Amino acid sequence: MVLIGDSGVGKSNILSRLTRNEFRLESKSTIGVEFASRTLSDLFSDRRGRQSRHRYETLLVKRDSNIVIMMAGNKSDMMHLRAVPEVDAQVLAEKEGLSFLEISALEAFNVEEEFQHILTEIYQMVS
Ligand code: GDP
Ligand code: MG
Repeated sequence: MVLIGDSGVGKSNILSRLTRNEFRLESKSTIGVEFASRTLSDLFSDRRGRQSRHRYETLLVKRDSNIVIMMAGNKSDMMHLRAVPEVDAQVLAEKEGLSFLEISALEAFNVEEEFQHILTEIYQMVS
């Protein structure tokens, strides 16, 4: 899985929340690429910016049936500073045919769900 987004949107913290259940308010900018891994063995037991925009668009153009793309709106805990109305994001996601969830790495809200959703889609694709 690859996390794409403008600097500061919370990619590193989403990754650390997902893989180590950690969150840092003071996180340093990532230089280069960051990797982490987690093995999900119980996953299916309960089945039921600019540069980044460019990269995202490239991904959409090159999209083929072997890629699963999902859109996440992070920092859902910061309601008072909301930059994008949820409905606008939903409209965009629908237009692009992507799933969309608002998440919060800080509150550990919907982070698991986001990745379970992606893995479920992958699982359905290969099974
Ligand atoms: P990256 O550049 O996309 O990797 O972003 P970081 O993970 O480094 O996060 C940038 C800043 O946003 C840091 O100060 C984080 O603590 C903060 N941050 C990340 N996720 C959240 C979140 O869900 N809620 C809030 N309130 N802050 C967040
Ligand atoms: Mg980072």
